[in-house]
Amino acid sequence: MIQLIRGFKDILPGEVALWQHIERTAVGLFAAFGFDEIRVPIMEKTELFARGIGEDTDIVEKEMYTLDDRGGEKLTLRPEATASIVRAYIQHKLYADDPLRKFYTIGPMFRRERPQKGRYRQFYQIDVEAFGMAGPFIDAQMIYMLHLFFQRLGVSRTQAHLNSLGCPVCRPRFREALAALLNKVEDRLCADCRRRQARNPLRVLDCKVPACREAVADAPAIVDYLCEDCRQHFQSVTENLTQLGVPFELDRRLVRGLDYYTRTTFEIQTDVLGAQSAVAGGGRYDGLVETLGGPATPAIGFAVGFDRLVEVLGQSLKIENPKPALFIAALGETARRKAFYWCAELAAAGIYVEMEHADKSLKSQMKRADRLGAARVLIVGDAELASGQANLRDMATKAQAEVVLAGLVDALKQQSIV
Ligand code: AMP
Repeated sequence: MIQLIRGFKDILPGEVALWQHIERTAVGLFAAFGFDEIRVPIMEKTELFARGIGEDTDIVEKEMYTLDDRGGEKLTLRPEATASIVRAYIQHKLYADDPLRKFYTIGPMFRRERPQKGRYRQFYQIDVEAFGMAGPFIDAQMIYMLHLFFQRLGVSRTQAHLNSLGCPVCRPRFREALAALLNKVEDRLCADCRRRQARNPLRVLDCKVPACREAVADAPAIVDYLCEDCRQHFQSVTENLTQLGVPFELDRRLVRGLDYYTRTTFEIQTDVLGAQSAVAGGGRYDGLVETLGGPATPAIGFAVGFDRLVEVLGQSLKIENPKPALFIAALGETARRKAFYWCAELAAAGIYVEMEHADKSLKSQMKRADRLGAARVLIVGDAELASGQANLRDMATKAQAEVVLAGLVDALKQQSIV
């Protein structure tokens, strides 16, 4: 039998209700903050991700699913959505009427990471981006929105971690100080970090290898190197978050794996999932729109790891699939045909009714009604069709009542018997 690809997974019907609940919560909340949905393709030219995410990142170096198209062009399954949304913003001149635009998208991303619990090769993100706002209000507003999102879902044990990554004015000074330290501890770093050290030293701070973490324990923190503008921006973000009652923790070591981040950077972590502790991450990327060929436009965004959120929530929240309001236990061909029309008419009116399609005994039909969790069962055979009355059984109370078949569909639609 052919199995699914390693690191990919099916989301089965029993789990989907929770996914839908999360999605509805997100859509309702984001609309109240003025975010519009945008849908971008899952495949783009490889160059978009190479330039947008950065050549020296793990994602671009080793995690992308890239293929040669028949014409020879290199295409990649998107590892994240930001670069695609930025491309769409530029390509369709979505800034033309008003550069201040807010978007979200929900969908699958692909990264060839080592699969483990909470880490998949196809995973889903809820991705949110805001363009055109340079001031610190939007930073706090987005983190607040994320906080509300988790709160509404009832996710407990989450913590916002916050840092500033500075900007092209102040980061070079920090990079120098960091490079000096890395030179000193070079022989204690893993092979990846030694390579990163020269090209992208900030990434060394992001390494999960314990020996590397130890080696950089005394590394300088970027918040100590911020220029005055970055310092004020960051201070305003933290003050506004406090005002809004969002709990956060300053995390001097927080850096992000993607190259394009500037200033505010954040992660929502939880201790529920073991090693894969981040359920959402994001930050400002003021240089990316210009880097990808658009007008200089400040921007900020975040991505929620949908799969991880489901895992966190699944431990406490059970969302049931809808259960039939009625099961029609039909006995005999004529009753089954009648039941078939009743089901069709009631489904069209939005009422979920089930029936047995095959010729089965009453006992077996009652069993199935029970398994489906039907609220009531209507038992109809030739005798009931002849008398025009049938027995309606309440599955919870076991109470029984005679109902008139002629008015059955209308009565169910008016909820006078469901
Ligand atoms: P990133 O795009 O790397 O900033 O990731 C944003 C969020 O997506 C993370 O906080 C995770 O919750 C989630 N995420 C990233 N990579 C994976 C993966 N391979 N499997 C499942 N979730 C992931």
